[in-house]
Amino acid sequence: MFGLRPAFPGGVRLPAVERHDSDALIRQMAFASLLRLPLRQHAGAASVAVVQPGDEVMRGQLLARAEADTAVPLHAPATGRVVRISAQPDGDGAAVGVIELAPAAGDTQEEITGRPLDPARCSPDELLRAIGDAGLVGLGGEAGSTHERLVRARAGGARVVVINGIEGEPGQARVPALLLRHGPDVIQGLRMVLRVLQTERSLLAVESHDGEAAGKLVQTVGADCGLTLRVLPPRYPQGAAGLLLRSLASNGADLNRAEAVVFSLATIAEIGRLLSRGWVMTDQLLTLSGDGLDKPGNYRVPLGTPIAFALAEAGARGDVERVLLGGPMRGKAVAGLERPIVKATTGLVAVAAGSAAGVPEPMACIRCGDCVTACPVQLHPAELGLLARRGENEAMFTDWYLDRCIECGCCSYVCPSHIPLVQMFRAARLQQRRLQRLAGEEVPA
Ligand code: SF4
Ligand code: SF4
Repeated sequence: MFGLRPAFPGGVRLPAVERHDSDALIRQMAFASLLRLPLRQHAGAASVAVVQPGDEVMRGQLLARAEADTAVPLHAPATGRVVRISAQPDGDGAAVGVIELAPAAGDTQEEITGRPLDPARCSPDELLRAIGDAGLVGLGGEAGSTHERLVRARAGGARVVVINGIEGEPGQARVPALLLRHGPDVIQGLRMVLRVLQTERSLLAVESHDGEAAGKLVQTVGADCGLTLRVLPPRYPQGAAGLLLRSLASNGADLNRAEAVVFSLATIAEIGRLLSRGWVMTDQLLTLSGDGLDKPGNYRVPLGTPIAFALAEAGARGDVERVLLGGPMRGKAVAGLERPIVKATTGLVAVAAGSAAGVPEPMACIRCGDCVTACPVQLHPAELGLLARRGENEAMFTDWYLDRCIECGCCSYVCPSHIPLVQMFRAARLQQRRLQRLAGEEVPA
C-alpha cells in the first residue's frame, strides 16, 4: 500500500485521521414528537402521497409512491398518525409536499416486516424490484434512486462493482462503523448487487486509516464472494466517484473504468441490512460531529427528525453558533433547525462559538493561484469567483464550466484570503436550477 498515490490533480491533504474504538459505535436515536417527511428528500422527482391527514400508519408502511423513474417511495419511520400534509419550501426555496407524522407515544414501534430476501434464491429482477420498493437512495451524498442507478448500470454493461469506503467529509466516521458493525450486511448487499448486475467482480476501496478494519472484513467474510481490497493514501476529495476510479486505475487495480459502477459502502450495507430482513428505508445513519456536541458520533436517526432534536440528543451545548449539513468541507449552513433529517443527509456538524472552524472575514483575491492548483477537476476558481462577485452567472457556466464543479470545497479551504468560493458557486448553481425550473425543466433536488 505504501508508495501509492492518488492519481488526480489537485485535492488537499487534510490532517491525518486517527480512528478510535468509539468510531465503530452506532447509537439509535429516539423519536421526536413530530416527524416532517418531504415527498422529495433525494436527487430526483417527488413521490406522491397515498395517505391523508388523520390516517393511522405503522412503521414501515408506504406513505408515498414513486411515479417517476427518478422518484423513490417513502415509508413511515414510526407508527403514529398523519397530522398534516402541506406544501413547504425545501432547502432550495422550491415548494415540496411534506407529510407530518406524530409517532404514537408508548407504542413498541415494531416495524412491518416483508419477506427477507436471500440473493442466492432470488432472481436479479426480484432483487432489483425489492431495492426500488425499499425506497433506497445513494447514501454517500449522491442521493439518487438506487434502483434507477442499477437499471442504468445494467443497461451500460457494468462488470465491476466498486464499493466506495472513503468518507465523503473529514470528521465523518460511518466507514469504520459499517465495516466493523455491519460486515455481514455489507457482504449481503454486495451479493445482491452482483446478482442484479450478473457479475462476480467487486472491489472495496478505503483510505489507509480504515485499512485494518476493511482487511478484517475482507478476510473473514469477503473472500467467498470474490471481494478484493485496495487501500489508498488519504487525499481529499478522493471519495468522489470519478476521482476514486482514477486513483484505483493508476494504482494498479485491474479496472476498466467504463465497466465499473461505484456504490458507497453505506448504500451497499443498507441494501443488505434492509432486504435480508424484509425492511424498508425508515432511518439514516449519520455522523454528528463538531466541537459544539458533548456526545458526537454515529447515530441511526429516524427520517423526518428535526435537526434541533438530533443535535440535542447528541448533547448540543448552548454555545453552538453554526450547524452544517454534511461536513466542514462541502457542508451547507442549515437554513433552520426545524428542518428534518432526510435520506440525502449524511452528517451534521455543530460548530461552537469562537471555534477554529469559525468563518473568517473574506479579503481581496491576491491572485496566488492556490485555488487553481487545488481544484481536482481543473476549473479556475479564482476567475469563477470574480464572475460570481460581478453577478455574471451565465459566463460561469458557458465560458468557465461551473457545471463540472463537484462542490468539494478545496478552493475555499486553501484560499489565503478566505473567499467563500464554494458557497458562491453553490449559490450560482442554485440560481441556475431556479431558472431551469421556471423554464419547466425537470431539475434534480
Ligand atoms: S469546489 Fe468546485 S471549483 Fe472549487 S475546488 Fe472543488 S471542484 Fe474546483
Ligand atoms: S486562492 Fe483565493 S486569493 Fe488565491 S487566487 Fe484563488 S481566490 Fe484568489
